[in-house]
Amino acid sequence: MNPFSLTKDELRDEVDRLRERITHLEERREHILYEMLEWRGIEPGMQCSSCGGSGRRTYSSTATWRGGIGGQACTDDVCDGCWGSGTTVRKGINLRAILSLSSYVSACETVDASGDWKLTGDELRTLRRLLNAQER
Ligand SMILES: [Zn+2]
Repeated sequence: MNPFSLTKDELRDEVDRLRERITHLEERREHILYEMLEWRGIEPGMQCSSCGGSGRRTYSSTATWRGGIGGQACTDDVCDGCWGSGTTVRKGINLRAILSLSSYVSACETVDASGDWKLTGDELRTLRRLLNAQER
C-alpha cells in the first residue's frame, strides 16, 4: 500500500486500523508477561525489579554478579536481585555468599594441611554444614 495514493478518508481508516493493532499488541504483551509470571509461580506485581521475573539479567561486564575484574562485554547471568527465583519474596540461594563461604572453607583447609589451624575442627564442621545447607 502506498500511503500517498490514499484519500483522506482512507488514510484516517488506516490510522484507526493501526491504532487498534497497537492496542491489541499491547494487550497481548501484557497477557504474555502475566502467563510467564504465572508459569514461574510469581504473583504479578511481585516480580523482581532487577530482572522483571526472568531470574536472569544482563551485566555490564563479564564479571557478572561475581564482581571484580571483568571484560568489556555485556553478559547474561543469574540475577543478583532475586538469585534466579524471579521474585524477591522468596529469593534463591545467594551465590555470592556461597562463593565467599566456599573460598573461606578452602582457605581453612589449606591452613589445616600445613598444620597451622585458625579454626577448630568443630568450627570447620559448622562451616561445612552451613555451606551444604546453602547448596541445596
Ligand atoms: Zn531478579
